[in-house]
Amino acid sequence: MIEIKNVSKAYRTDTIETLALQKMNLSVPSGEFLSIMGPSGCGKSTLLNIMGLIDEPSEGTVTLAGQQITDYNGTRIARFRNEQLGFIFQSFHLINDLTVVDNVELPLLYRKVGSKERRRLATEALAHVGLSNRSTHFPNQLSGGQKQRVAIARAIVGRPNIILADEPTGNLDSRMGDEIMDILLKLNEDLGTTIVMVTHDERMAKKTHRLVRLSDGERVS
Ligand code: ADP
Ligand code: ADP
Repeated sequence: MIEIKNVSKAYRTDTIETLALQKMNLSVPSGEFLSIMGPSGCGKSTLLNIMGLIDEPSEGTVTLAGQQITDYNGTRIARFRNEQLGFIFQSFHLINDLTVVDNVELPLLYRKVGSKERRRLATEALAHVGLSNRSTHFPNQLSGGQKQRVAIARAIVGRPNIILADEPTGNLDSRMGDEIMDILLKLNEDLGTTIVMVTHDERMAKKTHRLVRLSDGERVS
């Protein structure tokens, strides 16, 4: 499902070059729930961004859903990303002046799905995360755990094959974190969604199928 081969990523500024990833190899089979851990600055977000086709590798190849990615610009890649991938972030990234249900509909808006069908699918996704009763609220009227559930509904509304989550429980207390993990685990089990999650929390990582550790841009396990 996700195939990272010999991927290196260098960030260049005027004076410094940072090698964020060095000849990384990683394959994530369809249906796996994988955790990535490692100290701050070891390349976790860079790896996730490369898997999400947000960052282009300096070297190496990325294959997603059987397609090797060669062109990182243009509408084709944007459509591919929109159809195949769902993203979840530590800080939720909701739009504060849109209601919950309008936030969830966003990926479908880019796909030009009609308004009735958008509402139907968003309502279904909100039911899936147990937030049916909050659809007309605004994000700032919700708790952190509820905001993250909205973000998960937005990530799954278009039925992506892959979910990429960058510290999804990082801003939540342990009870809310457990709730979010339960939703992700259920999603993985019920729908077979492949999930890659960056986390600093060993306890959350232990709930997933496999743990990969990074250090200084390299895999150490
Ligand atoms: P975390 O450690 O929680 O993964 P970071 O603070 O390392 O998050 O990174 C947050 C975002 O900032 C990432 O998307 C990363 O690409 C970007 N970033 C990290 N370090 C730098 C840097 N030195 N210069 C510019 N952007 C950076
Ligand atoms: P992590 O997510 O594990 O904290 P990152 O992938 O964010 O690590 O960063 C890996 C390394 O690359 C760090 O040294 C960071 O400072 C650097 N880096 C990340 N993004 C950028 C960027 N946009 N420009 C320059 N350096 C960056």
